[in-house]
Amino acid sequence: MKSDCHMISVDASCMDCGYSLRGLSDGMCPECGRAFDSGDPSTFECDGKRPRWRRWARAPSLWSIVPLISGSYYLVNEASVPGNELINSMIYPLLFMLGAYTVGEYVLRCLACRRDANRASLDLGTSSRRGKRRWCVLPLCVCLIVSLGLWNWPLHARFALSRTAFDHMRTKINAGANPPSGYIWIGLYRVQIHDIDGEILFSTGHALVDEYGFIHGKPTKCPVAVVERCAGNWLAVQYPP
Ligand SMILES: [Zn+2]
Repeated sequence: MKSDCHMISVDASCMDCGYSLRGLSDGMCPECGRAFDSGDPSTFECDGKRPRWRRWARAPSLWSIVPLISGSYYLVNEASVPGNELINSMIYPLLFMLGAYTVGEYVLRCLACRRDANRASLDLGTSSRRGKRRWCVLPLCVCLIVSLGLWNWPLHARFALSRTAFDHMRTKINAGANPPSGYIWIGLYRVQIHDIDGEILFSTGHALVDEYGFIHGKPTKCPVAVVERCAGNWLAVQYPP
C-alpha cells in the first residue's frame, strides 16, 4: 500500500459496492469502507479495464457454494441407499469435475486473499467481511465426503430411523399378511417387497443388473451378498439375478 495518495482522475469505482471513486484520494470508499490505493489501479474498478486479480480476493461465491452443497447432499443420499455404488453412475464424473473446479477456485481465492491482506486490513466496512462463513463450506464438504469413504454413516442413520417400520412390516408378513405390491414407503425408504425363495427382500432397486435391498437375518435359502450390516439382524444385501 502506497502512502502518497493522490486523487483518482479516471472513472473508477469501488470493487465492493460500485460507488464512484473519481476525485477521491483518502483511500477509503465513503459508501462501504473498502480501502483502496489511489496509486494502485488494481485496488479499484476502472471503466473499460479487465477485472483485476483482486476481484478473487473474497469469499467463495454462491455459484460455487450451492452446487457444492447440492453435490454433497446427492452423495450422502446415494450412500444411504444400498446399491448405489459410486462406480455405477454416470453422474460421478460430473461431480468430480465440479469438485475439482470448486477446489481450484477456492485455492485461487485463498492466494488472492493472502496477496490482498495488507489492503484488506485497512477496510472499515463490513462488506468485504461478508460471507466469511462461506470459507467453511468446502472444508466441511470435503470432511463429509471423506467420512463417507471411511464409514457409510448415512446408510446406518437412515436405516436406524426406518427400522421400526421395517420390523413392523416384517412382523405383519410373517403373521400371514400379503406383502404390498409395487413400491411403498417403509420408514424413509421406498421399497418393493419380494419373496425370494421364502426370504423377504425389501428391495431398494437395481444397480446395473443386481438388485439391492434389506433382508432380516442371513438368508440360508437364497444367494445374497452382504453389503453392510445394519441395525440388529438387518442386512443391506446385493442379490444377483
Ligand atoms: Zn464501496
